[in-house]
Amino acid sequence: MGDDFDAIVVGAGFAGCAAAIRLAKGGANTLLLERGVEPGVKNLSGGILWGHDLDPILPKWQEEMPLERHIISKRFGFLTPDRALSFEYRDESWDRPPYNAHSVLRARTDAWLAKKAEEAGATLVSAVPVDKLHREGEKVRGVVQSGEVMTAPITIVTDGYNSRTTLGTSLRKGAPPRANTGQLRLSEDHTEVGVKEVFKIDPQVLEDRFGVEGLQGRAQEWVLGFLPPGIMAGGFLYTNRDTLSLGIIAQLGSLKGRGVATHEIIEKFKLHPAIEPLLRGAEMVEYGAKLIPDGYAARPDRFWDDGVLVAGDAGGFVFSNGIVIQGMSYAARSGILAADTALEAIQAKDFSSVKLASYGERLNSSHVLPDFQRFAGMDPVKWNPRIYREYAQLATGLFHDWMTPRPGGPRGLLSTALGSARGAMKLGIADSIRELSLAAREM
Ligand SMILES: Cc1cc2nc3c(=O)[nH]c(=O)nc-3n(C[C@H](O)[C@H](O)[C@H](O)COP(=O)(O)OP(=O)(O)OC[C@H]3O[C@@H](n4cnc5c(N)ncnc54)[C@H](O)[C@@H]3O)c2cc1C
Repeated sequence: MGDDFDAIVVGAGFAGCAAAIRLAKGGANTLLLERGVEPGVKNLSGGILWGHDLDPILPKWQEEMPLERHIISKRFGFLTPDRALSFEYRDESWDRPPYNAHSVLRARTDAWLAKKAEEAGATLVSAVPVDKLHREGEKVRGVVQSGEVMTAPITIVTDGYNSRTTLGTSLRKGAPPRANTGQLRLSEDHTEVGVKEVFKIDPQVLEDRFGVEGLQGRAQEWVLGFLPPGIMAGGFLYTNRDTLSLGIIAQLGSLKGRGVATHEIIEKFKLHPAIEPLLRGAEMVEYGAKLIPDGYAARPDRFWDDGVLVAGDAGGFVFSNGIVIQGMSYAARSGILAADTALEAIQAKDFSSVKLASYGERLNSSHVLPDFQRFAGMDPVKWNPRIYREYAQLATGLFHDWMTPRPGGPRGLLSTALGSARGAMKLGIADSIRELSLAAREM
């Protein structure tokens, strides 16, 4: 018996919609399944969409997509209990086409992307939470939902990091199940948790407060150096048209056993003296939380197998470290590469894992896998708990000591730095220099 479709895509996020658009434009009879009542309603993202990875499938996306603001500057900094130190990078080329980055709200962008997939000829069915992949022997041949099977010779899995369809299969074996419940799980050491709130704000107030006009926007990312020792978390604040997106991202393993919940972290971030004035008068209208893969270390066991390809967050394609996060662009790019692989397989009528191995070649010859392999060296740097405490205190303390008038007149920057370092750091100067030079090299 023939299959129901040429290809099935599970999950209508950035990766799934990009894959479905490419497949449908390539002539494949494509089914796009989404568990939310509409695409986007279940999605959560900070979210700054960096780069131009949608160009190959939607050359006019910047003009047509419901984007919020184009980003003209990015602020990085440290927050300690009563201090803030930051620097801002502003780039005039970011203020004109082809813009470098945009703030987005996923409910709008994902609905628009899914519509584009339908216009290209894909069949979108929402409110369908796929239960598992349908297998014939070892081969994947579609999906199962509530006991019903929908078949296709190739399935692209783009159901996000906490992927119900791959966890516990040969694609992602996962960490050992919990002893008490036997429940399958992701590795806490390679997982982050993101919590985000959206605040409604008068656009004129927003523009005055952030010094932007028209559709200009700004992004801020902070190391949260005011949390109990060991907790590694960052905070972000992005400007949308008439809302602000504020959130925190914490390394999941670092929260374990420390008695601090994510809602307490986001509350502290919101109340910090450097952040609170920016939110004044704004009203919270949305709240959500989601797991985030920690780059290459969070990759699945396999990106493909007989009859199946894995893209987007389900493939672990997010770079994040608490203060920088980029996943939507990788999701779109990997979705497109998976679709190209599927189209080639449909043409050849060969869906074996040997044939689908060209997905690996595509990931390797694009920027996707090389970026992740390069970023892997950042792990010991970005998940160094001292960044989130001692270094945050050192950085803010240095400026405090340097800029606070003292009897005997001002001190030089170097002698202040050494004095502050001795005060703030539990480890010696040589260790700090070693860590900073490792960080500089990996960056
Ligand atoms: C707080 C936070 C802030 C972030 N900030 C940024 C940022 O500023 N910039 C950036 O680039 N990235 C950011 N990211 C990461 C970014 O959101 C992800 O990398 C991106 O959404 C991945 O897209 P995706 O399509 O792979 O997965 P998702 O966006 O997770 O989409 C998966 C889709 O699959 C659907 N689905 C899930 N299970 C099933 C199922 N069983 N059956 C059917 N459908 C299913 C879901 O409803 C969803 O629509 C952030 C993430 C978080 C949590």
